[in-house]
Amino acid sequence: MSVGVGQRPPLFLLHPQRYGGTICFSRSCRFSKQEQTQNWKELKFIRGNKLLKDLSTWGIGGPCNYFVQVVDHTQLASAIRYCHEHSMRFIVVGRGSNCLFDDLGFDGCVILNRIEFVETKEPGVFRVGSGFRFNRLGVQCSNEGFTGLEFAGGIPGTVGGAVYMNAGANGQETAGAVEIVDIVTNDGKFQTLDRADLDFGYRSSPFQNMQDLAAIVAVTFQLQRSGSSKRRQHEYLERRRISQPVGERTAGSVFRNPKDMGVAAAKLIEEAGLKGFRVGRAMVSNIHANFFINTGGSTSQDMLNLIAVVKEKVDQKFGIQLKEEVLYISPYCNDVKPNKD
Ligand SMILES: Cc1cc2nc3c(=O)[nH]c(=O)nc-3n(C[C@H](O)[C@H](O)[C@H](O)COP(=O)(O)OP(=O)(O)OC[C@H]3O[C@@H](n4cnc5c(N)ncnc54)[C@H](O)[C@@H]3O)c2cc1C
Repeated sequence: MSVGVGQRPPLFLLHPQRYGGTICFSRSCRFSKQEQTQNWKELKFIRGNKLLKDLSTWGIGGPCNYFVQVVDHTQLASAIRYCHEHSMRFIVVGRGSNCLFDDLGFDGCVILNRIEFVETKEPGVFRVGSGFRFNRLGVQCSNEGFTGLEFAGGIPGTVGGAVYMNAGANGQETAGAVEIVDIVTNDGKFQTLDRADLDFGYRSSPFQNMQDLAAIVAVTFQLQRSGSSKRRQHEYLERRRISQPVGERTAGSVFRNPKDMGVAAAKLIEEAGLKGFRVGRAMVSNIHANFFINTGGSTSQDMLNLIAVVKEKVDQKFGIQLKEEVLYISPYCNDVKPNKD
């Protein structure tokens, strides 16, 4: 990956279309310097004041140029149209539990997705807003005696983020329960996509490469009846409590497990002697070596450096190149490069 002079080396960048694809122009500010907010079709855009560290589980990240929160699909489409009309790049954020934002912030608009609804279409078939909490959905469905989302109980993201990442654990993954995905495109059109036409993989979804995707709006899940779903969900959560640094500022697993090698990234990091290893205020967890902790005041550069060092040491020791699962959100448009395996 080539890097221009004076730029921070991008490690694991978000896919370009997640910035609104073709609308990634350099023109930005439309408000006067004094103006901090602007109302547009019932939306309140906040300029310059919103810190990304408040939108991410890692607690890292500087200010974004524009910020808007949406609570339904109409607001989401309006926000996207607004970005389009103002030639502004944007990113849709759920709970920021898989994102590393930069201390320099984001030179564009952050759209915070809070589209939170659950409709029961028929027993076991739920249409859910993409901003709904994935862990809450997992607990609810398991308690109601449906299997397929027990693993979601410990994942602190949104339904949209889970589908985008094809989040998974305990031998289950989001794609296994998806039936339909409703999206909005960059030109503001709503589309309904059938699961049969969607090709998911390990922590990958077709949405990561979809050129005209602006956002996932809602997801319909189809689940089966099960007498043991509630017990299983509890067991999975308990396993997490024991094996993960619960309560710390993390973004879950930093690296994907290496393909077809039968060894977890956490094991490689641990065996490279890196548990507890620190760069600045960023640290490899002593409990789970693939979880990196912001111990308080970690900068994005601390975290980037820690990731780079861990990769290098694992490569030196085992000859294995770890690939990031977390997404680094570059502050500037011209840094954006695809995150190819
Ligand atoms: C303690 C902890 C445990 C975790 N455990 C797991 C685990 O077991 N398994 C696992 O897979 N992950 C795990 N994660 C990672 C993370 O929770 C998941 O990847 C989650 O699905 C991300 O959801 P989010 O809403 O936070 O997405 P964000 O971090 O907000 O966004 C991630 C990506 O999804 C995109 N996105 C989000 N919402 C939308 C939308 N509506 N439309 C289009 N794109 C969207 C964003 O633009 C971004 O590119 C864990 C994280 C933590 C902190």
